[in-house]
Amino acid sequence: MSDKGFILLGRDGPEALAGLEEALAEDGYAVRSVRDGNTLLSYVASQHPDLVLIDESIAEMAPLEIVKHVRHRVGSRDVPILLVSSQTQGDDAATAIRAGVTDYIRKPFQLHELIARIWSHLERGRLIRHARREADTNGIVLEVVRDVTASLSSEEIFDILVRRVSRLFNIRRCSMILIEDDLEHGTVVAAHDDPSISALAIDLGRYPEIRQAVETGAPVLVKNLRGSALFEQIRPLWETEKIEVDVQSIVAIPFTFDQSRAGVFFLRSSPDEPQLDEESVRLMSAIAQGAVRALNRAAMFENVLSHQEQLEILAKTDELTGCLSRRYLMERLENELERAARYKRLLGLVIFDIDDFKRLNDTHGHTTGDAALRSIGEVLRRSLRTADFVGRYGGDEFLLVLPETSPHGTHQLAERIRNGVSRRDFDLRGGSLRLTVSGGVAGFPETGVVTPEDLIDRADQALYRAKAAGRNKVLAYSADLDKVSASD
Ligand code: GH3
Ligand code: MG
Repeated sequence: MSDKGFILLGRDGPEALAGLEEALAEDGYAVRSVRDGNTLLSYVASQHPDLVLIDESIAEMAPLEIVKHVRHRVGSRDVPILLVSSQTQGDDAATAIRAGVTDYIRKPFQLHELIARIWSHLERGRLIRHARREADTNGIVLEVVRDVTASLSSEEIFDILVRRVSRLFNIRRCSMILIEDDLEHGTVVAAHDDPSISALAIDLGRYPEIRQAVETGAPVLVKNLRGSALFEQIRPLWETEKIEVDVQSIVAIPFTFDQSRAGVFFLRSSPDEPQLDEESVRLMSAIAQGAVRALNRAAMFENVLSHQEQLEILAKTDELTGCLSRRYLMERLENELERAARYKRLLGLVIFDIDDFKRLNDTHGHTTGDAALRSIGEVLRRSLRTADFVGRYGGDEFLLVLPETSPHGTHQLAERIRNGVSRRDFDLRGGSLRLTVSGGVAGFPETGVVTPEDLIDRADQALYRAKAAGRNKVLAYSADLDKVSASD
């Protein structure tokens, strides 16, 4: 398709808008004409034009009806739509613009003026798309960085990074390499294509791209390894050693952390995978930048704190899921409840339990079960606001504590989490799986709730009802039901 843009024209027969298609094609635009509204709509959906120009002569559907349909589709909400009309009443243009038309052109029109308008709308469209892509990228970066900052060990951060980035780009080979002081050797500290690799030594003489990234301190992008001069010296070696290099494009992002430790974030695509480009460099650099902050924090944790202090912090987290450990969770819940009672504040509590988890363990094995617990822990941690906390209460049960939150707000958050879990594909060892959770909600103040156990007990009753009601549900504790079941 033309770089200048793809324009879809809707008009009944070539007499309408005579000369326009030819002039646009001559200017280097890709142009396609259709005669009726339905065909135009199906083209909008399947061909993603950069601009739609509709002449009043279009068959089958009124122009504004077409506009309404185009604006309703998520994918074409932003596409510029120009309407050419011979109507001369004053408020036609206003009606059309309110209906979603981007620009209204009256007949007879000047060809060169119309083409100038088309150019201008295409430029604006490009800017909007660019801004949107940037916003998406920022969202992705934020998510990855949020993920790594939850971790206090550099090893875990490296693992998360290679896993997430590999998935993000749909490219198998992503690794993290730490560079030795001699700048001759490196150590692969994490590799997505082979998670068992840790501390594999490599000779940088064989990786000119890594060496260049380290020496210049700037990202290296190789779009096509085949023609790249960077590998001139090493190519004969591949030949004599009969090494098949199954790499098409490469990105190497250098970074330093913990004052002077140097590393390279390394992504390589094979010919059947997406080709890496400037956009990939931008995205990976942004991720690396965020990760460096997490790495510095982890390094400080590892360097500065004594072994004893590290153990204390670790005792507060559940090793498998990264959520609070049961002991520390109960300690904090007790504090929060006391505070809520003293200052007459609200407190929300949710207990989540994975549905049919035994079966998952039985069918896919405990390692997959563990991975599922870890993922659910991650989802829960990421759904919380600053003051909230989540801990593993036991087995497949998690408690969410939400200070200053009304019963309604607690229920809403829990429902959002439940819904999010049920819609997600969990990328666990050996494939993707669907999981669901059930939740029970309780709140403070509530008659009879004095201790953390009272609160948990109520949430647990609601959870029990959610399970009985078919699972994948969140229910709130209700005192009335309690009475009913108590008097049974
Ligand atoms: P329900 O929908 O009623 O909750 O059914 P369920 O199968 O999830 O039943 P339940 O919650 O009672 O079972 C929890 C299971 O979680 C039992 C145990 O085998 C498993 N489990 C507990 N801790 C771990 C763990 O650390 N790792 C793994 N893989 N499984 C665990
Ligand atoms: Mg369960």
